[in-house]
Amino acid sequence: MVSAHPDSESAAASDPGVYRTLLESTRAIPWRIDWDTMRFTYVGPQIEALLGWKQSSWLSVSDWADRMHEEDRARTVDFCVAQSQSGIDHEADYRALTSDGDYVWIRDVVHVVRRADGGVEALVGFMFDITERKQAEDKILQLQRELEVLSYRDSLTGVANRRMFDTLYPVEWAKARATGEPLSVVVIDIDYFKQYNDHYGHVQGDECLRRVARALDAGASRSRDLCARFGGEEFVLLLPATDEVAARNVAERCRKLLARKALPHARSGVGRVVTVSAGVGTVVPGERDDPNVFLDRVDRRLYQAKSSGRDRICDAEA
Ligand code: GH3
Ligand code: MG
Ligand code: MG
Repeated sequence: MVSAHPDSESAAASDPGVYRTLLESTRAIPWRIDWDTMRFTYVGPQIEALLGWKQSSWLSVSDWADRMHEEDRARTVDFCVAQSQSGIDHEADYRALTSDGDYVWIRDVVHVVRRADGGVEALVGFMFDITERKQAEDKILQLQRELEVLSYRDSLTGVANRRMFDTLYPVEWAKARATGEPLSVVVIDIDYFKQYNDHYGHVQGDECLRRVARALDAGASRSRDLCARFGGEEFVLLLPATDEVAARNVAERCRKLLARKALPHARSGVGRVVTVSAGVGTVVPGERDDPNVFLDRVDRRLYQAKSSGRDRICDAEA
């Protein structure tokens, strides 16, 4: 039995086997390349378990470069050579080819060993298997993209949400200002919806919101048109390159599409089906126009439509 040595550093130094055992038992794969010959002078035996290629098959840097994904090769090799020539320690992520024809994501961490005269003597490094990390990163990116799509969508009705409108409105406003094209906005509110909920219940109320949203979304049918749920039972249509006449037509079409559905509303004050009121406005934004002031003006037309009997559209003419 070997007793513990009081000076473990010198014990390790006098027994290279300690280093070898350490190197060859880690999950990271150690390697060394002689700079002058560009040949491997060492590769950890773990490489065979990871990539399938025999330890003895790693002879020169071209074995390393050849067993790299084509899309990663030029970038990785150029980067590593440039860094090594400048004597800079570095890291590179790339896909290494396995003997089965699969790819494993590798992070190579490289240290440049210099001679006394400053020239490069060798490169030593560790290869780490980062496949799982890369997969997790890809998954996160994919989820972020999905989330971005979802976060612009109203979860109840499936149309765009307020956030989407708030994002697009200034963009369309600026575009209309630049092009001189008219921008129209329609603000729409369901009539007597409180009574609808009171009478049919919230679940049915939610279903009604979905159906109204679908009718409005179908009414605003040009590719740049936006139908968004503004909040509660209120919707907004953003209609780029749309003049007053066309905007009124869109609002009328929305009302007709909803009327055709004939959703029963036993407690409505204006009939027996679900109806909406709308305010319409059109602007060719000038330097002194303000998008919020314009939106307020359209909103006031909605309330005009409400106070003058509901189930109607109010525009500048009204
Ligand atoms: P008006 O004709 O003047 O527009 O009257 P109204 O009853 O439609 O308007 P009011 O603002 O008094 O009521 C709106 C109702 O909309 C109140 C609320 O219960 C209902 N509401 C808002 N959001 C939702 C929702 O997400 N689901 C359901 N089911 N109801 C909602
Ligand atoms: Mg309402
Ligand atoms: Mg309302």
